[in-house]
Amino acid sequence: MQLQDKVALVTGASSGIGRATALRFAAEGAIVGVLGRNRAALDETVAEIETAGGRALALVADVADDSAVRDAVSRLVDMHGRLDVVFANAGINGVWAPIDTLLPQEWDKTLAINLRGTYLTIHYTVPHLKRSGGGAILVTSSINGTRVFSNSGASAYACSKAAQLALVQMLALELAPFHIRVNALCPGSIATDINERTEQRDLESIGIPVDYPQGQVPLTEGRSGTAEQVAELALFLASERSSHISGTPVWIDGAQSLLIG
Ligand code: NAD
Repeated sequence: MQLQDKVALVTGASSGIGRATALRFAAEGAIVGVLGRNRAALDETVAEIETAGGRALALVADVADDSAVRDAVSRLVDMHGRLDVVFANAGINGVWAPIDTLLPQEWDKTLAINLRGTYLTIHYTVPHLKRSGGGAILVTSSINGTRVFSNSGASAYACSKAAQLALVQMLALELAPFHIRVNALCPGSIATDINERTEQRDLESIGIPVDYPQGQVPLTEGRSGTAEQVAELALFLASERSSHISGTPVWIDGAQSLLIG
């Protein structure tokens, strides 16, 4: 049991990478606060964890909402007394469109959820990690944080993911004296619902192929990775097995990022 009796918070835990990671953490003995906006989907995640013999608590909150995140973190810590692992994973692709048609409110929404949400999650959890004597913070960035899919129209998304990496490096140094490790996961194409939720608009004018950026994963003849594969990396970065790793972006993309940039 790699996380026996550790208390973990996973955001965006009602689907995809967050859900798979919550299940994986719980299977390794952690008590998991599963945070998201959708009560019914969170309850399903909790039920699945409990059916497997694990422990979890549903926390309904929008990660971009200051007081909602604060209250959710308080609830988890009040109930379980401590916090050891924080996975700031919730995110959206948002609108992918040429910069001259990307609206200010679309830009703001992507940055609010992906970047402000990550900040708020960390801001409200760090005092508890310090009180626990250390811990691990994980952030789901993306290969788009460092490698840019040309003509994808993903400017707001790419900026949010790059900024997350800057935050991870900054905090790895700031929090090192408190024995808090901070690392980023940088997935390539992973088979989750997020890619269906992307709103792509007006991309013909910048020449984007319709199925882009899927289908370009050298390791798997084009197939996307799975949420469970990313959850294995999250478990490694959350556990003592990665005790000397901090400030590091870890690519998990079947070599996809080597084809772009
Ligand atoms: P997903 O859509 O299944 O999961 C994202 C989760 O975040 C969802 O449960 C969603 O409800 C939640 N969420 C969105 N906005 C929220 C908000 N304001 N407050 C609380 N929760 C919110 O997709 P996923 O692929 O599992 O995405 C997880 C993370 O992985 C995201 O940060 C995404 O950017 C990143 N990522 C995904 C891929 C991929 O190809 N799937 C690639 C690179 C990075």
